[in-house]
Amino acid sequence: MQFPDDMSDIEQPCHVMEHQHIDCPLCKLNSTDPIIMKMNTMEESLSGKISSDEIYKTLYQFYKHQKQELERQNLSCPTITEEDIKIHYEKHKVNLKNIVANEIFLANEMQRQFAATQIATMDMNGRKTLNSKMVDQWIRISKHKLDLVKYYQSLSKRKVNQPSAIKPMEFD
Ligand SMILES: [Zn+2]
Repeated sequence: MQFPDDMSDIEQPCHVMEHQHIDCPLCKLNSTDPIIMKMNTMEESLSGKISSDEIYKTLYQFYKHQKQELERQNLSCPTITEEDIKIHYEKHKVNLKNIVANEIFLANEMQRQFAATQIATMDMNGRKTLNSKMVDQWIRISKHKLDLVKYYQSLSKRKVNQPSAIKPMEFD
């Protein structure tokens, strides 16, 4: 049996996703921690309204404020960076609204491509012919997209329940 000189060419089976949750400070706190619960609520209600970076900045400011409050009461609170927040909400937590929104963008792009390249042909006299098979496909994508839009709207209307454990922010 012969081995190639360069072992780096050999491909190894691997997981589809790397498991990095163990090192994530937000995952460690998750689900029962009232601050994280409040942050999840904020993330859900803000998504689709402002940019993701804006959301993470807002969550980070909120967390920093809560951490100061806890430390003033001599309670310990782990340090979380804005980057930790970004990674957690993008890779570890499912945001249904984001998933549906991305599907809508994809359907949009497919429709655009279809309309530009597949649906109609033009002969030398400039006469256009519609490709009925492709029109059917286009209608299928269109229906799928409108279903997604309806679903997205229902998600936006759904009330996000506020955890009661946390007091509203106080300003002095
Ligand atoms: Zn996480």
